[in-house]
Amino acid sequence: MMIKNEYISCPYLESGISFKKNSIDFCCVAHSNNKGCTKICSYEGGEIPINEILDRRQQVISSIQKNENTSCKGCYLLEKRSWENLNNKFTNIILAYPDICDLSCNYCYVSKYNNKLLHSFGLDYDILDTFKSMAKNNLFAHNALVLLAAGEPTLHKKFDAIVEFSTNYNLLVTVCSNGVSYKNSIMKGLESNKLFLICSIDAGTSEVYSQIKGRDKFDVVIRNLKQYALAGERRGVQVKYIFTNENSNGSQVNEFINICVENKFNKIIISRNFTSHGVHATENKIDLPPAMIEGIIYMIELLVQFRLEFDISAEAFRSEEVELLEKLYITKNDENVPLKQIWLKSKYKHYYHHQ
Ligand code: SF4
Ligand code: SF4
Repeated sequence: MMIKNEYISCPYLESGISFKKNSIDFCCVAHSNNKGCTKICSYEGGEIPINEILDRRQQVISSIQKNENTSCKGCYLLEKRSWENLNNKFTNIILAYPDICDLSCNYCYVSKYNNKLLHSFGLDYDILDTFKSMAKNNLFAHNALVLLAAGEPTLHKKFDAIVEFSTNYNLLVTVCSNGVSYKNSIMKGLESNKLFLICSIDAGTSEVYSQIKGRDKFDVVIRNLKQYALAGERRGVQVKYIFTNENSNGSQVNEFINICVENKFNKIIISRNFTSHGVHATENKIDLPPAMIEGIIYMIELLVQFRLEFDISAEAFRSEEVELLEKLYITKNDENVPLKQIWLKSKYKHYYHHQ
């Protein structure tokens, strides 16, 4: 293994590729109020332009060293260290479209464009062909990660084929799904321990779920997740709670945790709605409403009480906010839970779902 010198970069610049409708990007990370998702070039299918990718990678990394104003500037994933030379192989492969969804969460950009994008749905290039040509050209790194997200990925016409191809090829797949449709391909992937599912529930009752997500699919989603959670020794399913104004109260949190305990949803992700008010994780300020702070602290108390594993979304909370939560938790409970460490650890985990 050849190690390069120390310089500022991120895992996605080094070995990421994110497929969009008409382009490829390095990542699907949004940061600093509308920056991020750094573009590589236009793309409409076929063999991926590896030389163009390498040139663009070099160009962006070089601009970052000079502190020039790139779309990466300010990103919380940049760090100075040695980076492994992966010999042009990709470790983070992201399928960041279809950009449509059958829910309309009030915090999500996709729901704003659903109708418009539905008309153009179906014009996409054949992503399965792309994956096959990448395999033929030996472009997947060992144990590379495939993230299927952005919109509802199960609505993509090649969803099952991509999951099947990736797991057969020994790639690890993360699916961010709203859980409305039950998919055999997800179940099979979970059973093989090569697929991880992340699903935002965001509520403890169907009333609040409908309020946030625009459709009453609460019972259907819980039923599907209950099935999925049984697979692969209960290791593959993570449920997410995106705190919003509607669900920060104690009773919603309580109901949600009851559902997790009852159905053995053992891995929880705590997030918050940050798109609506333009929060950026590296800005140096605290912007959590008091009711949300109370709701989060209460959820952590319950998670600790029921010994449920949890992550704190590094995209959704700033360092100062997590420090405040940790301090308040200690003051209230007279015991320490290392929230800052949990938050730091989740920085590079795949849990992207627009939040
Ligand atoms: S630094 Fe941030 S915006 Fe730039 S490629 Fe990496 S993750 Fe994407
Ligand atoms: S957050 Fe996910 S489930 Fe909700 S509208 Fe957006 S894509 Fe759909």
